[in-house]
Amino acid sequence: AMGKNELASAKRQRAGVIFLSQFRDVMVLILLASTIISVLLGEWVEAIAIVCVVFLNACLGFFQEYRTEKTLEALKQMAAPHSKVLREGKITSIASSMIVPGDIVLLESGDIIPADGVLIEGIDLHADESMLTGESEAVYKESTDPARAESAPKRCQVFMGTTVTRGRGRMVVAQTGMGTQMGSIASMLEDIEEDPTPLQKKLAELSKYIGAGCLIICAIVTLTGILRGEPVFDMLVTGISLAVAAVPEGLPAIVTIALALAVRRMVKRNALVRKLHAVETLGCASVICSDKTGTLTENKMTVVGVQTMQNSYQVSGTGYEQAGLITQNGAAVVLSQHPALERLLDIAVLCNNAQIYGEDLSRPLRDRTKNNRRGVWEISGEATEVSLLVMAAKRSVTANTLAREYTRVYEIPFDSSRKCMSVGVRHKTLGNMLYTKGALDVIIQNCAYVMGEQGREAMTDARRKAILQQGEDLAEQGLRVLAFAYKEQGDVINRKDETGLCYVGMCSIMDPPRKEAFDAVKRCRRAGIRPIMITGDHKKTAQAIARQLDILREGDLTFTGRELDQMDDRRLREVVSKASVFARVTPGHKLRIVKALKARGFITAMTGDGVNDAPAIKEADIGVAMGQNGTDVTKEASSIVLLDDNFATLVRAVEEGRGIYRNIRKFIRYLLSCNIGEVVTMFVGMLMGFPVVLLPIQILLVNLVTDGLPALALGVEPIDPDVMKEPPRKKDEGVFSRGLLSMILFRGALLGLTTLWVFTSVYSSSADIVMARTAALFTLVITQLIHVFECKSEEKSLFKIPIFNNIKLVLAAVFSLAILLCAIYVPFCNVIFVTAPLPSKYILRAVLCSFVAPVLSALLFNVLLKPKRQVQWVQTPEK
Ligand code: ATP
Repeated sequence: AMGKNELASAKRQRAGVIFLSQFRDVMVLILLASTIISVLLGEWVEAIAIVCVVFLNACLGFFQEYRTEKTLEALKQMAAPHSKVLREGKITSIASSMIVPGDIVLLESGDIIPADGVLIEGIDLHADESMLTGESEAVYKESTDPARAESAPKRCQVFMGTTVTRGRGRMVVAQTGMGTQMGSIASMLEDIEEDPTPLQKKLAELSKYIGAGCLIICAIVTLTGILRGEPVFDMLVTGISLAVAAVPEGLPAIVTIALALAVRRMVKRNALVRKLHAVETLGCASVICSDKTGTLTENKMTVVGVQTMQNSYQVSGTGYEQAGLITQNGAAVVLSQHPALERLLDIAVLCNNAQIYGEDLSRPLRDRTKNNRRGVWEISGEATEVSLLVMAAKRSVTANTLAREYTRVYEIPFDSSRKCMSVGVRHKTLGNMLYTKGALDVIIQNCAYVMGEQGREAMTDARRKAILQQGEDLAEQGLRVLAFAYKEQGDVINRKDETGLCYVGMCSIMDPPRKEAFDAVKRCRRAGIRPIMITGDHKKTAQAIARQLDILREGDLTFTGRELDQMDDRRLREVVSKASVFARVTPGHKLRIVKALKARGFITAMTGDGVNDAPAIKEADIGVAMGQNGTDVTKEASSIVLLDDNFATLVRAVEEGRGIYRNIRKFIRYLLSCNIGEVVTMFVGMLMGFPVVLLPIQILLVNLVTDGLPALALGVEPIDPDVMKEPPRKKDEGVFSRGLLSMILFRGALLGLTTLWVFTSVYSSSADIVMARTAALFTLVITQLIHVFECKSEEKSLFKIPIFNNIKLVLAAVFSLAILLCAIYVPFCNVIFVTAPLPSKYILRAVLCSFVAPVLSALLFNVLLKPKRQVQWVQTPEK
């Protein structure tokens, strides 16, 4: 069997490696070493118990990390590129890894070429081969006869991994996978490691300091104990256990897990995260620049009207429905009496690369006038072009019917900077013709004639003005206007000159806003995020849609690409924070807009689809590519792919990004306060001259039951609906900003003091050290399990927080409690953990004491921390 079309990927983390890495921590190793010593000293029970607890902890870590790994891997699979291939006469999209030699692959600008092969059809196709050759200039690729593909010269060959920068074509696949040029150098390519996210970096650094601090305290605890005459070896084991429990070395890892889980949730809601750090940055977004077509609108275009010099026509039917008619004043039109319309339909169908399938058009016309719904067209191609084919098909003009009279000779492809497209065709009687369609304002500049009553008439300024006015009127209704023109070329076959055209007419195309977009814009605004529309479409059309969506408000500015050209970057920076619509822009403008926004301190999310959008997407803080209409190159440059091309999905992703950041803060808060609580218990106890408060195995037990599952459950808290009511977080905000550090220190200290209090009171009343330790163990775990619920919110006190909205957290707490109770009440465990069954009076005392801290902080919350948060525009003044 043939292998898949994949490059052999470099090392993947094996399960075993992940498991062993759980023991990489020096402290854990020292602990294990010291257990071996205790075995030699004959302390079997304690040694085995310690090993078991450490092992359990490792299992927990392994399980989480392994799952994270699998999640991220699955996501990579989803992000894998697809290709359009011609199989059994139909164009289908398949995963590029499924391509086999002999396949015919369709290529268009923005595609990453999926295999090595030969170009058998090429229209102005240029490929960027810099990754193979180092040559930065895109090279023109010639096509060759399929029959001679075997011996095609290099200029006809295309290579895996290179990108199509312009034009389109078809290739026949020769080599796949490791057989390709790319394959032969693949072994040289290092597996790209995912960079740690900014938060992870910060935390990794922070953990080092906290860790160092903990180690010093542990050393002091150990030394003090030894000086006081405790057995040296016991004190060493105590210190090391404390270090294992208190050093938050796992913090960055838990952040990864939480991010990965968020990523998994996001993909279920159609936002595919390609780079982990995007999840964090998303929460900071203060501007979202969105394309109009397909992102804010439905991209299910319908032609609703046609205007020629003399007449206007209505087109009925919506979307890709087959039913519908072209009428004039309510009556179906006879094409022979409407030469301009007839010509317009010819241009619409011939100057077109889309396809529609499904209807048998040989049926008599009278069947179609009944207006019965006969299903919808199957479509492939660009929405604008599809809508034109659908319109023409409503008058029975299709590529098949036209093929009897026309042959297509060449194409000048559509380009979003030129905003038009032409084809050269040869007609049986008319001879060679150039058919052009494109943006009205562009086409009209190139027209020297109009198709009027008398056939070709001269274009006058008055006519030009009238036509443009007609177009503006349509655009003001939010319609997209496309103009059509032609030129008779006589026997000139191949002069690709788009001037001196004869104007035929225009189509108005409806593309309504997506329903979800209305609400999404509202949510953005409430969250202090500025929505901006950037579009290639006409200014008036853009404004109309933007106004409907509330993106364009009273006092906001609109700029066109031409106006941007006349503006230097300084001026653009001054006005950019007041602009909500950019119309008739080219991808180059997008880059300037992002740069201006960034210079003003905005954190910018920017969407894009075409090849030329890639630089702007790369430059944006959060580059967003379209999953359906986006090109491979843009996807590659992006950090997030919207699988449904939908603006609302992006806004939801921002919400998720904000939510996950909050959740991360929740468990940082929880883990650190708990660790401080443990250290304070041991340290202060030692300083105050008490016997060692907790034995090593007890410390490890606390660590196991509180640090593991409850912390993780905090990471999957449901997103607080309030996250979209606040202004965006500052990007350079520290981990402990907004009072988190004092919250942690305060609560950590209280945790420890509560535990100590219970310990001394039980010790003094019972004079039983085992009982006192058991009570301390119980208190320390209970206070932490109460605290975990407090960590659910930074704004509310424990008594106002909904407890049961995260059932995982409740279960984790119950599970931890159950383990604790076993450790105290099961006789066998009493031996292992050196505990005694606690009488109910001590239990009661411990529980009551445990609630002191939450009550105290609830009071504090109401007195000191009345949070007043308001949405405000985040803007930095011009420097
Ligand atoms: P957005 O940038 O929001 O996606 P858009 O799709 O209108 O908007 P482009 O695809 O760059 O942006 O199109 C710019 C203009 O070019 C359109 O307004 C239209 O007038 C014209 N145009 C679009 N598609 C074609 C096409 N296939 N052939 C000819 N002209 C086209």
